[in-house]
Amino acid sequence: MRSIAEIEYPETKPLATNMAKPRILIIEDEKALTEVLSYNFQRDGYEVTVCHEGRDGLRKAQNQIPDVIILDLMLPVMDGLEVCRELRAGERTRDIPILMLTAKAEETDQIIGFSLGADDYVTKPFSVKVLLQRVRALQRRVEARDRPGEVIEHLGIRIDRVRYKATVEGRELELTPTEFRLLECLLRQPGRAFTRSQLMDVAIGEGAVVLERTIDVHIKTLRRKLGGDPDYIETVRGVGYRLREV
Ligand code: CA
Repeated sequence: MRSIAEIEYPETKPLATNMAKPRILIIEDEKALTEVLSYNFQRDGYEVTVCHEGRDGLRKAQNQIPDVIILDLMLPVMDGLEVCRELRAGERTRDIPILMLTAKAEETDQIIGFSLGADDYVTKPFSVKVLLQRVRALQRRVEARDRPGEVIEHLGIRIDRVRYKATVEGRELELTPTEFRLLECLLRQPGRAFTRSQLMDVAIGEGAVVLERTIDVHIKTLRRKLGGDPDYIETVRGVGYRLREV
């Protein structure tokens, strides 16, 4: 058993006060530990919410959408793995960074937790200082991930080239590399008509020996994936295709 005496109270500089406080949700059933964590994270500039069992923790996470979650593996009512799974399955909660707390005896579970989508884990007993550092590092990683890269957007279609992600009205599209390049080309110049051969150069590569009909097939699939009524991609008779302007 870890005793409270092992826990350090590190000297930390509070975050700038003009910034919105990062919100942390701690889901952990050891009350003494949550008190120590709560104290330290508050001191480090966090707004802290504590839950002592899994299901309640999950609900709080779904309602509050915290910036980061510390999740104990062994929890009453609903265990940490189940909470993690539910969070990863939820559209609003799937991107919340999760740091899992595990005990030595649970090393196998620890690996499972990791593959299930926890972003990091710390084994008990741990030093609070280390935990604070790991949480900060986790947040930095997520911020880097979420920093707007090269983003192109039109009519609710959005392409993020850095994250290689395409969405329509917030719905993520599963695109092949060819479809991705095709969509990007159309999205860069809405309303402009592209010939099949221009689109082929962009999407498949210049000089590629493919039938022009190949582009029609890609456009057809892309249209289906995009959905929308009328179609986002318009056929320009005798020419090729363009992205609807309005
Ligand atoms: Ca526990």
